[in-house]
Amino acid sequence: MDVVSILQKCEAMLTGHFLLSSGNHSSQYFQCAKLLQYPDLAAQVLSIPVQALISQKKEGRIEYDCVVGPAMGGIIPSYEFGRQLGVPSFFTERDDDGNMVLRRGFEVTKGMKIILAEDVISTGKSTLEAAKALEALGGVIVASVCIVDRRTKDAENPFSWEIFSALRQPAVMYEPSSCPLCTSGELPLVKPGSRKKF
Ligand SMILES: [Zn+2]
Repeated sequence: MDVVSILQKCEAMLTGHFLLSSGNHSSQYFQCAKLLQYPDLAAQVLSIPVQALISQKKEGRIEYDCVVGPAMGGIIPSYEFGRQLGVPSFFTERDDDGNMVLRRGFEVTKGMKIILAEDVISTGKSTLEAAKALEALGGVIVASVCIVDRRTKDAENPFSWEIFSALRQPAVMYEPSSCPLCTSGELPLVKPGSRKKF
């Protein structure tokens, strides 16, 4: 089964009329937790970027020591990526002041080569935040790995390292005032994760 079919089957990839947290509307929404609830399907999907990373390693183009996923979204993907790549996996999380930090005795040693894991990359903001915290500890970010790369069509890579994803699906977003889905009026506006209609 291909990635899109798997994501649709477990309702991780939804089509409709969605209100995003940014306030914009979109015809598509990804809820990767719906994929990650099925470890066997998640393993299949996540193996796609893993294969790319492994072949780059064989060619001597990349080296990595561990995978780190920012909480919450990055924790489970990081664990599965670590399992398949055969390296440790841990996570960063927010402290009481909202700063991304490393806790629980996890350690980053100087020069440690880190792959950053996410469920979805859109703007790359949380990845950059985690990267900053890990680099401050001496870590070196060598790649980003995610389930869905949702950067807009013409968006440049916001990182100085390569992005590996199971699916590249650029986000299509509309301002509420110019949303064609609102204009057509066929689909009710839905806030993802809730059954509430607007
Ligand atoms: Zn709309």
